[in-house]
Amino acid sequence: MTKVTRFAPSPTGPLHIGGVRTALFNYVYAKQNKGKFLIRVEDTDAERSTEEFEENILKGLSDIGINPDETPVRQSERSELYMLAAEKILDSGNAYWCDCSKETLDEMRKEQEAAGKKPMYDGRSRNLGLERTNNSVLRLKTPQDGELVFHDLVRGEVIFQNSELDDLILLRSDGSPTYHLCNVVDDFNQGVTTVVRGEDHLSNTPRQIHIQNALGYDSLEYAHLPMVLGQDKKRLSKRNAVTSLQDFFDQGYLESSMINMLARLGWSKGDKEIFYLDDLISDFRIQEVQKAGAIFDPSKLDWINNHHLAALSFDDFKNRLIPFLDALGLDYMQKKNNNEIIAAMRSSKPNLLGVAQDLIPYFSELSSYDDKAANKFLIGSEVVLEYVQRKLNGLEEWGEDSIDKALKEAQTGLSLPTPKLNQPIRIAMTGSTQSPSLGLTLSLFNLEEVNKRINAALEYLSHKN
Ligand code: GLU
Repeated sequence: MTKVTRFAPSPTGPLHIGGVRTALFNYVYAKQNKGKFLIRVEDTDAERSTEEFEENILKGLSDIGINPDETPVRQSERSELYMLAAEKILDSGNAYWCDCSKETLDEMRKEQEAAGKKPMYDGRSRNLGLERTNNSVLRLKTPQDGELVFHDLVRGEVIFQNSELDDLILLRSDGSPTYHLCNVVDDFNQGVTTVVRGEDHLSNTPRQIHIQNALGYDSLEYAHLPMVLGQDKKRLSKRNAVTSLQDFFDQGYLESSMINMLARLGWSKGDKEIFYLDDLISDFRIQEVQKAGAIFDPSKLDWINNHHLAALSFDDFKNRLIPFLDALGLDYMQKKNNNEIIAAMRSSKPNLLGVAQDLIPYFSELSSYDDKAANKFLIGSEVVLEYVQRKLNGLEEWGEDSIDKALKEAQTGLSLPTPKLNQPIRIAMTGSTQSPSLGLTLSLFNLEEVNKRINAALEYLSHKN
């Protein structure tokens, strides 16, 4: 049978990386089985769902290359299906109207809590044959004893005691269908065969299977994925990490890196670390997903992004970097050797925003020095700056090799350890102590600019004294 999976986000917040992982595993599982991947927007919570969040979710998935095989559906537009299903359950004798008031339910809960029992609806209206009133809810007659067993592709056999499950509400008193009913009816109507979702939904599954049974639907395949955890081992949230996909794109993490990182959250294949979407479609096995929570490690993402950035052709890298340079207002075109500068700096940071920021001193005037660096190395370095400047001005040819040679000679001439010679020059040129090798750094500027910056540093020092 063709496998059909779906990602069913509730548009109550921006696309979260945990959600992207769920979508990714659904997508990969469908594609590797030559099946279909669908998207369903679960927007029945009218108060918390917004069109902006829906757009953010659909765009994020499409940016990352996870496209559905059919137009996404919205639950808010399918209420007729849910009503028909509710009627069918009622007609088959598997549901009943219950008009217990809020006070009655509160009292029931208090008594159960006082007796040390799990609070749940006790089924008191189940056999009363009540008619619908303005206050009635429709409840499912859930089997009261026995076990509900299902096989989970990740967790193996999962068993729930029916006595732990109460008669869940299918229709609220205002007639609106509940989440569980919509979810089950949609999976059936969309032809879904396999539900891949977060472990937080595990306890919903027996309830949903009871609804499926009441409707006579075929059973589904399930895979409940381990939760994505922050570094503090708590569930990943805005409080302990950057969670929105767009925020990662805004920092210059590549789509392919996000896919790679997310695939590794809860799944691995030997020592292999670098995966692209196509690799996942051939290598990923849902049965190999671990049960334990998966910790999202931002430094691992940096490492992965470094690899993915390094694998880009220069042109591709530059095209992706340009929006970041533009956003910083850097006029890179005014430098004839901009390609050389970008190539020298392309691995300076693990994301494009960091690389673009590191390029500021190369594509704009230097306006200040890093305080710590200046205090440590620049103060008192007049002799070094002047000596090296003289050496550089005596060069016949301006290039990395000849500059390196001049620096070596200066070091011998002044008999200084490398940092004492190099760091003042580096700070004079870039404002900080971080740059590629000094010969290369200097060669990225012309002699005129080097003189200008060394003079500016000397001028700065003259005010410090
Ligand atoms: N709408 C649910 C959520 O956003 C997903 C339900 C499901 O996958 O069955 O968590």
